[in-house]
Amino acid sequence: MDSKPANSNPQGNREQPWRVSLRDTLKAKERSSLERVKMPEADPLERSRGYIEVNRGLTEEAARAEARRCLDCKTPTCVEGCPVGIDIPGFVKQIEAGNFGEAVKVIKEANAFPAVCGRVCPQEIQCESRCIYTEKMKKDAVAIGNLERFVADYEFSRGSFYTPLTACSNDTKVAIVGSGPAGLAAAGDLAKEGYCVTVFEALHELGGVLKYGIPEFRLPNFIVDQEIENLKKMGVEFVKNFIVGKTLSFEELKERGYKAFFVGSGAGLPNFMNIPGENYNGVLSSNEYLTRVNLMGAARDYDTPVYYGRNVAIIGGGNTAMDSVRTARRLGAERAMIVYRRSFDEMPARKEEIKHALEEGIEFLNLNTPVEYLADEKGHVKQMRLQRMELGEPDESGRRKPVPKEGSEYLVDTDLVIVSIGVSPNPLIAQSLPDLKVTKWGTIVVDENMQSSIPGLFAGGDIVRGGATVILAMGDGRRAARGIHAFLSGQQG
Ligand code: FAD
Ligand code: SF4
Repeated sequence: MDSKPANSNPQGNREQPWRVSLRDTLKAKERSSLERVKMPEADPLERSRGYIEVNRGLTEEAARAEARRCLDCKTPTCVEGCPVGIDIPGFVKQIEAGNFGEAVKVIKEANAFPAVCGRVCPQEIQCESRCIYTEKMKKDAVAIGNLERFVADYEFSRGSFYTPLTACSNDTKVAIVGSGPAGLAAAGDLAKEGYCVTVFEALHELGGVLKYGIPEFRLPNFIVDQEIENLKKMGVEFVKNFIVGKTLSFEELKERGYKAFFVGSGAGLPNFMNIPGENYNGVLSSNEYLTRVNLMGAARDYDTPVYYGRNVAIIGGGNTAMDSVRTARRLGAERAMIVYRRSFDEMPARKEEIKHALEEGIEFLNLNTPVEYLADEKGHVKQMRLQRMELGEPDESGRRKPVPKEGSEYLVDTDLVIVSIGVSPNPLIAQSLPDLKVTKWGTIVVDENMQSSIPGLFAGGDIVRGGATVILAMGDGRRAARGIHAFLSGQQG
């Protein structure tokens, strides 16, 4: 299967003879007349009763059929749309040729965890939005994300992704704060460079949002666990239940021999709307709800189960809101509602998540915002007062601004409200490092190498960007690893 040469210089050598011959085997016109291969999905009714993964994955035949659609463009605009510049036609053409192992190698030049990104990256606004099919032909893009997931899963199924022990050959200790995608990506690259890497994680589980936020029906835990296992096999050490800045300070870690730090502590502090009634029982943040369900067994038979709710309202329209509302549906909500102040067109959640939510019977109260919650005599929320909105002129984000409609307020019954309107960085790290420069939003200021105002302390992911994406966090982690290597090699500072 893997007999074709590896694409060792994916960006620079786009004219490998075998690629040209592939172009010749099927004319562009025939390729572009092929329909996009659909991702098989679990039945909406069946899946909304449990935690099975919704997208079932492509077969080898289906993946090769989809790869055939790629035109191997001389100027592949899809690559420009990928935040980490994966050689997309390079890996897609390897799939077409049946060289699945080589395909994953091409991806891994730029992306450390393709099984994760193939599942959760918003390809429709990244690479796939820039595919020539979307941009010029007004057809469905090549299913780049589905193909990425296919080869990563192929590699997992073969058990061929394990990397040999590489860490700690140079005796230099580096500490990583947080085990989310930013921290894991930094740890992997630093281990490959021979550093003794320790990842400190505040929670009792590793993986950051990949584990505590994104539910198993979108990203099964075993995918994240396998990546973590791989890092352990490379020699990366993980310490759980350890809050850097509290359990031990950065200074104390320095005294224990850590020569450089990468802070990938994310943005785990939920925002609230500060409207009347937000303190009632039964009003909580998405962070609390998802963490308790995903990480603390609160959905099952547990001492402190999360309140299930019959009429559940989720406030917000992002991925976190979709994950929360679909979780509520799986926990038995009869009416599971999204309350969003704009319309479907402005909704920040992935289109696929919205489609899946609609299939699962989620109700969308778009162009509505809560202005107050009302409680029963025990202080538990029982209703929300909603105000209707209309769209005005575009605001600074480019999206049309929601404008309240006077006199349009009405009451809706609800016994569980989950607020999902964004997150901010936890201030703990900044508080424990007075010299650390942060923005007014509490995000850490870094230079182009991801180094902060404190020499030797690097940062990336949501703690630098605010709530962003998995691929950007991973890209930051890898850039910071290069920065740390340069710093420790004496090329900097
Ligand atoms: P995180 O993943 O937040 O990890 C940070 C880790 O650091 C956490 O485990 C935390 O416990 C730990 N930590 C914090 N402080 C300390 C400390 N002092 N000491 C030790 N450890 C500490 N993005 C997408 O691209 N696609 C999606 O579909 C998507 N869906 C999402 C769904 C949900 C519910 C949420 C919440 C986010 C979603 N995102 C999605 C965003 C994406 O998950 C984040 O942008 C990404 O995880 C950020 O990675 P990170 O490594 O910076 O931080
Ligand atoms: Fe293939 Fe689309 Fe990229 Fe062209 S733009 S190389 S067709 S994925």
